[in-house]
Amino acid sequence: MNSKTKVGIIICDRYRCCAGGKCLRAMRNKEGAFSIYAGTGAELVGFTTCNGCPGGNVEYAGEEMVKNGAEVIHLATGMVVGYPPCPSITTFKSFLEKRYGVKVVVGTHPIPKKYLDMHSQLGTWENPQWEPLVEPIMCDDATRALYD
Ligand code: SF4
Repeated sequence: MNSKTKVGIIICDRYRCCAGGKCLRAMRNKEGAFSIYAGTGAELVGFTTCNGCPGGNVEYAGEEMVKNGAEVIHLATGMVVGYPPCPSITTFKSFLEKRYGVKVVVGTHPIPKKYLDMHSQLGTWENPQWEPLVEPIMCDDATRALYD
């Protein structure tokens, strides 16, 4: 019996050429936002981009992922660490949850060290609205360094 949680990943289109290495490694190692699957593991059932601002593909990708069995959709870490972070991330989360009744998790792989360093200088995440979004992918120094 396959008890793995079926997940879809939507990435920021700024990173559309990304081969998914960090997300897939984190999924395999159950690091970052994938630590919630420590007891079960996760199976990827969809991977795409938002198709560029303002993120029109979120609507269609969500439908296809859920049809393909996605139980959780992850909004990739790139949406959080980009310069600037995606301004629509909470709207995407609310929309997907309400429209498709699917759980949505912000983040995939741990925040890379170089992005934390830069955003710390910028003060990007000092707004308390970002704290709960960043916390699951903050991880520790050693883990962040592995994702640089
Ligand atoms: S900033 Fe947001 S809407 Fe724009 S490309 Fe990235 S994820 Fe899509």
